Amino acid sequence: MEYDDTETARELAKRVREFVDERVIPVERDYLGDGPVPDEEIAALREEARERDLYAPQIPAEYGGQGLNFRDVLPAFEEAGRSLLGPSAMRIAAPDEGNMHTLELVGTEAQKEEYLRPLVAGEIRSGFSMTEPAPGGGSDPKMIRSEARKEGDEWVIDGHKWWTTQGSEADVLIVMARTDPEAHPYEGTSLFLVPADADGVEIVRDIPHVGGDLLGSSHAEIRYENVRVPEENLLGEKNRGFEHAQQRLGPARLTHCMRYTGMATRALEVAKAYTKEREAFDSSLSEKQSVRFTVAEAETRLHAVRTMVRDAAGRIAAGEEARIPVSMSKVYTANVVQDVIDDCLQLCGGNGIAKDLPLADFYEDVRAFRLIDGADEVHKRVIARDAYRDVEPSAIEGITEFKG
Ligand SMILES: Cc1cc2nc3c(=O)[nH]c(=O)nc-3n(C[C@H](O)[C@H](O)[C@H](O)COP(=O)(O)OP(=O)(O)OC[C@H]3O[C@@H](n4cnc5c(N)ncnc54)[C@H](O)[C@@H]3O)c2cc1C
Repeated sequence: MEYDDTETARELAKRVREFVDERVIPVERDYLGDGPVPDEEIAALREEARERDLYAPQIPAEYGGQGLNFRDVLPAFEEAGRSLLGPSAMRIAAPDEGNMHTLELVGTEAQKEEYLRPLVAGEIRSGFSMTEPAPGGGSDPKMIRSEARKEGDEWVIDGHKWWTTQGSEADVLIVMARTDPEAHPYEGTSLFLVPADADGVEIVRDIPHVGGDLLGSSHAEIRYENVRVPEENLLGEKNRGFEHAQQRLGPARLTHCMRYTGMATRALEVAKAYTKEREAFDSSLSEKQSVRFTVAEAETRLHAVRTMVRDAAGRIAAGEEARIPVSMSKVYTANVVQDVIDDCLQLCGGNGIAKDLPLADFYEDVRAFRLIDGADEVHKRVIARDAYRDVEPSAIEGITEFKG
């Protein structure tokens, strides 16, 4: 299927596909069922991505990337997502990708030198610490309880967070905390760059969870107790943390959509190959109508997803916030890719859950997508609020009686 991608975007995506097929998938095969993939293997893939001019296409050239716009990196992100290792190999994996974007948008020059440059180079790792256990903020971020108070020329942070992806491995954590307890949280919360080795940062535990066998990244529960950081570690403007988080989360939700679309596309490639080869009841499985309908349905829904995400990404590249198109893309993509991967697994029979194929890891990994960066229900809430904004009572004007 052809999309309205630019020549630059197509050319990059084609090279990413070759890289993933030739270099990334063989490494993935070696470690399926036997992960996590060691850091040295990821480093070697990154080296090759650099040699092939595929590394960090979303980052400005001055910080070690290729400076492509958000819409032009989209097909490359999809292609990279065909393997769980592809995004890491190209330095476009969450959460570093979103954190680098935040630093690029609102970081000071000094912060960019200290954190963005080594993050792009893959020399350090980062986490984004926003979600809190009850009674703190989860789906409703207004409930955030972590606080930062100013003492002299330092910020002192106290808080309790969890689900900080890569929290245990991170060198720096972006922490969200209230800085004006009197104000509405949306107007009284800020972001801070907290070195992971700062006194008072305690990794309570890595939360045991579904998935992650291949990459092995943690989702950490973290306590911040009396953590002192210098004044200049405020990231962005004081009290504008929610706005900055939104600037991060909008594009980050879409890059998740792109990578997961790639994952579902690969699942379908595998399922089509399997059903074409495998026979039952005197013919290839690919000749059975119910199999063909499942594949047709998956192709159709993935086409809808790709089109939708391109629309939202194009709006973001043009400078729109695109809140509703992003929420619609996020919730729709998360459900489609989950269903498609589940169907593909079924089409491959017992092999679907064997770790000889990548489908079992995809199946485990994809489930979190309906929760991360805003669960389905939260995005539907946003979409519905907008849908009810301009309701016209005249739409039922003249109807005096509802017939059952
Ligand atoms: C794998 C993974 C990685 C993550 N990484 C990070 C990270 O790096 N940094 C970070 O800060 N957070 C991270 N999170 C946290 C994630 O953003 C939250 O899990 C998510 O926002 C939901 O919050 P919660 O878990 O507190 O759910 P809760 O707020 O407890 O919600 C529970 C359920 O209630 C539903 N619900 C909420 N409101 C309504 C409503 N009005 N109507 C109907 N249903 C509703 C929710 O949708 C959800 O299904 C991660 C989570 C996972 C699973």
